[in-house]
Amino acid sequence: MTTLLPTSTAGSLPKPSWLAQPEVLWSPWKLQEAELVEGKQDALRLALHEQRHAGIDIVSDGEQSRQHFVTTFIEHLNGVDFEQRETVRIRDRYDASVPSVIGDVSRQKPVFVDDAAFLRAQTDQPIKWALPGPMTMIDTLYDGHYKSREKLAWEFAKILNQEAKELEAAGVDIIQFDEPAFNVFFDEVNDWGIATLERAIEGLKCETAVHICYGYGIKANTDWKSSLGSEWRQYEEVFPKLRQSNIDIVSLECHNSRVPMELIELIRGKKVMVGAIDVATNTIETPEEVANTLRKALQFVDADKLYPCTNCGMAPLSRQVARAKMDALSQGAAIVRQELTR
Ligand SMILES: [Zn+2]
Repeated sequence: MTTLLPTSTAGSLPKPSWLAQPEVLWSPWKLQEAELVEGKQDALRLALHEQRHAGIDIVSDGEQSRQHFVTTFIEHLNGVDFEQRETVRIRDRYDASVPSVIGDVSRQKPVFVDDAAFLRAQTDQPIKWALPGPMTMIDTLYDGHYKSREKLAWEFAKILNQEAKELEAAGVDIIQFDEPAFNVFFDEVNDWGIATLERAIEGLKCETAVHICYGYGIKANTDWKSSLGSEWRQYEEVFPKLRQSNIDIVSLECHNSRVPMELIELIRGKKVMVGAIDVATNTIETPEEVANTLRKALQFVDADKLYPCTNCGMAPLSRQVARAKMDALSQGAAIVRQELTR
């Protein structure tokens, strides 16, 4: 990136009401078959337009092409039965009925590559594409086949690597892996979580990112957050090892969270997508608030490595709120950019 402080969003944006019910996470599609394909493409065009209008530098599909950031990917794989469901505890936080791994997992065909190529054809701006990380994938499934979280994660890492290589060939500039599970299972992250992530990015020449957050602004997450005490030091557990990894960019939550900003020092040398927009409130940040978060982050990350971003995806918000938050993000980044270049 030649732009100083290039802005981006963590991932999802609200869907138009004609595609899926708004302000609900993971709501089912309203269209089917060919209409759905066209509807998703139209929604992607809109999401792109709104990002450009707000002045976002690194754009994405706003996840208009998927219903759920993990399951939509898994649905396309062999070895997982979506009919056979079991209740498991997700990220040690809430119970959910999830599909079962019933055989060897493999990818039948590319999952998001056509969608990424479609996005590539719409813009010359740098594009970022999100995939679920191996550890977050296994945490959303019941595994009665491998009977080992680690083994299953390595299998998923191989599949993600195949997909990532094809996304790179389709012209994606940054491939991001969403790993909220990195904030929960510290021992596993250090034992094999980061290693499986590195397997997923093996051989890639494009940039790679890992997004580690405290989740969407839904009740299970806000309840969990309120149990975490006055300082959230979860990042401290995984950053030292992440710093040694081959991942280029770390995307994290900052604004309105109780994460001590100095923890960013632990990944000195990495590019950091600093969350300057709270996705768990409808209150719109002022550009000055965004600028303040970025100024604080600049104590711990070099200016050429600071990427202003949102804390997490904005799918559950209204379109108006998401748009206004993107505006605030780019205006706040502009303030600091000006200070740095003056
Ligand atoms: Zn997130």
